[in-house]
Amino acid sequence: MDCSLNLTDKLESQLSKDIINALVLCSKTAFESEYKIFLIGGVVRDLILNRKVADIDVTVEGDALKFCHILADKKHCKILQVQNDLKTVKARFKNNVIIDFASTRQEFYPRRGHLPVVVRIGCTLQEDVYRRDFTINALAMSLNENNYGDVIDYTGGVKDLENKTLRVLHDNSFNEDPSRIIRALKFAARLNFHRDEYTKEQQQKYLTTQIHNDISWTRIKSELKQTFSLNIPRAYDMFLANDTYKLVYGENPDIRGLEIKTLVDKYSPDYPWLVYLGTVLENKSIIDAFCFTRAEKKIFTDKEILLESNLNLHSTNYEIYKCFEKRATEAVMIYYLLTKRKEALVYLERLKDIRVELTGHDLKNMGILEGRKIGAILDEILKKKLSGKIITKADEERFVKQQIKK
Ligand code: ATP
Ligand code: MG
Repeated sequence: MDCSLNLTDKLESQLSKDIINALVLCSKTAFESEYKIFLIGGVVRDLILNRKVADIDVTVEGDALKFCHILADKKHCKILQVQNDLKTVKARFKNNVIIDFASTRQEFYPRRGHLPVVVRIGCTLQEDVYRRDFTINALAMSLNENNYGDVIDYTGGVKDLENKTLRVLHDNSFNEDPSRIIRALKFAARLNFHRDEYTKEQQQKYLTTQIHNDISWTRIKSELKQTFSLNIPRAYDMFLANDTYKLVYGENPDIRGLEIKTLVDKYSPDYPWLVYLGTVLENKSIIDAFCFTRAEKKIFTDKEILLESNLNLHSTNYEIYKCFEKRATEAVMIYYLLTKRKEALVYLERLKDIRVELTGHDLKNMGILEGRKIGAILDEILKKKLSGKIITKADEERFVKQQIKK
């Protein structure tokens, strides 16, 4: 255990006055009521790395709910949410500072990759950190008055931070929770870290020997979403190179992350992470298991429709437009990545935003009454716009008037 590192100065420079005040209140209360409390996990990691801290997690050696009631009785905070079985609490301090409190706990996983069933609440901090994913996320910082700011490192996390290494804590880590395989990609990409040999071996062992159909797809989906939303090519390259994609039963499409990032940056789709994932994910039962929203699901259906379309070198702009117009932009991008058909780029670059400005109503007002005729003229206008023969709304009106004369 390494206690030589003290983060008091980093707290001052990296956290707001309001957060520091809230932590001091927690610290004083812990001292008075004889609790031991610690900053834990990502917040300690990010403080040491001088990165922006996302959320403040405090672990209480013992029962966090009881501790938070003491804080609330003293009017230091308001309890917002309680999860009774895990004894976790979300609390709000002055000036909207939110802190998540957890009780130290040991966990047991009855079903691989599903939420753990808790064995014991109120274990020691040392026992608690072994349920965590990587050594760099198993660091704690004391909030106790006798050693405030000291880093408590039971697993070698500080050294791994220095060496930019992601290392799981034990042989059973990926069995317990395979979503850690994706978490490794996320941290590797975000922090520019690498997995050590031991962790790679553990991952390979998991991917080759386990039948991973009994896992929590919600967790996997959430981690994939966070990872690919970073829009960092390396996460995708690692996803393919390390066979991680096999977790979702895909084929290796031999695409580079940079190609995807270039497209995503250029066309800003609503769901960038699904452009990455959509190049690999094709297993119907997993697509179902991911419980996508309707809009997300459409991307996968549209991709299938596009892969069955028969565009060819001689397709006209109108044919290209008709092929893609009802399809999600993400699906058009995935189709391009998988097939390299230039027509998809022609659509995205030149045709996608072309619209006929006149409406059926306008045409009626201009004297064309028959529905079928209106449809045919609007279609004709579209064709001319797509081939650049009609550009403005005035051009459209001129064309309609010519048709009426005819
Ligand atoms: P982020 O910066 O993305 O919030 P984080 O490391 O804080 O990263 P969280 O998901 O907020 O991650 O979780 C907080 C802590 O809980 C982690 O630092 C880690 O110790 C632990 N943890 C989270 N997910 C897992 C998991 N799947 N397996 C084991 N421990 C986990
Ligand atoms: Mg966090």
